[in-house]
Amino acid sequence: MSAFKTLDDLGDVTGKVALVRVDLNLPMNDGQVTDDTRIRAAAPTVLELAEKGAKVLLLAHFGRPKGERVSTMSLSMVVGAVEKVFGKEVMFVPEIAGDVVKQTVGILRAGDIAILENTRFWKGEEKNDPELVKAIAANADFYVNDAFSAAHRAHATTEGLAHVLPAYAGRSMQAELEALDKALGKPEKPVAAVVGGAKVSSKLDVLKHLVTQVDHLIIGGGMANTFLAAKGVDVGKSLCEHDLTGTANEILDVADQSGCTVHLPYEVVVSKEFAANPPSLRTCNVHEVAADEMILDVGPLAVEALGDVLKTCRTLVWNGPLGAFETVPFDAATVALAKTAAALTREGSLVSVAGGGDTVAALHHAGVADDFSYISTAGGAFLEWMEGKELPGVAALSA
Ligand code: ADP
Ligand code: MG
Repeated sequence: MSAFKTLDDLGDVTGKVALVRVDLNLPMNDGQVTDDTRIRAAAPTVLELAEKGAKVLLLAHFGRPKGERVSTMSLSMVVGAVEKVFGKEVMFVPEIAGDVVKQTVGILRAGDIAILENTRFWKGEEKNDPELVKAIAANADFYVNDAFSAAHRAHATTEGLAHVLPAYAGRSMQAELEALDKALGKPEKPVAAVVGGAKVSSKLDVLKHLVTQVDHLIIGGGMANTFLAAKGVDVGKSLCEHDLTGTANEILDVADQSGCTVHLPYEVVVSKEFAANPPSLRTCNVHEVAADEMILDVGPLAVEALGDVLKTCRTLVWNGPLGAFETVPFDAATVALAKTAAALTREGSLVSVAGGGDTVAALHHAGVADDFSYISTAGGAFLEWMEGKELPGVAALSA
């Protein structure tokens, strides 16, 4: 990871104008914010800058208005929720550039906070239009990016601004980058990766990258079925991408050449129908799956063996549940391995980093989310990072 500046590198910012890119793409229902996790993630950076006396202008996108003003996607709707978390009054400005913002900056006192309008109301945002970048930058002294979740996009407010203003990583961005660096950048070895979830096709690039980086690759979930089929196992009517068995074998070959041990389930939980506690539920050897059965989870003995693999490792990166965890009892393997990883992390023998929408939900379900070293809520950006890609928003901070 190349070096980037943080808030520690700021000089005196009293009265200076900060443009702070945050993630306010909040889940809403009936005009109410239903989960304020992202606001809480932005709070340390925003409040630190306000305390230091900066005038803080928040930039964020909300939904996909595609370059038009869409009143149901105005960031004015989130002001109340943001004020509640920040414990401070927050102004709303219906523009992101131009005279209205300039006048607002004149009115703001040192330490005041304003939310600018949804950046995606302007076509230049997603096009990273230099004219828009210049117009936004004209009202500010420096730029802080605290939205790792948007860093895989080279947009005006996620990437462009970093080139025309002094640029800094916010505290959440900094924490995310430091955690990810510990997991795959400069990890303590041996390193294990768990990749699960529904399909190989959605995570091909992740798998291809990981086999060259980690010592142990644990494959679970629906995607394990494709790998099993590639090895000649009859997976019955399991979710399986038969057209990708060739690709699966190529990945296994690369793993072999790279010294990466791939762990596929040798024992599985199957049933004839996909339902909670189905009557046909049974656990069997992976070679004994009947033609009318589906593999829905990794078996308990196999999970115990995977736990033993983790005990030999110093670093773990996890994306994707091991089974169809939303339906009992197919959450058992994910919960059991998550608990082992959590215990090893608490003991200090493992650095554990996890990410992905369903993965985070599964770890909360297992009651161990707080025990992992770091949990990324960044979705797309987290997956692109797992693919080994350089994220434009991060690269621009390091330039
Ligand atoms: P994430 O959101 O963490 O990246 P994915 O979206 O890739 O994870 O995968 C999660 C989904 O995979 C869950 O809905 C889960 O039910 C499904 N899944 C896991 N194992 C199986 C399986 N054996 N058969 C069918 N679906 C599965
Ligand atoms: Mg998902």
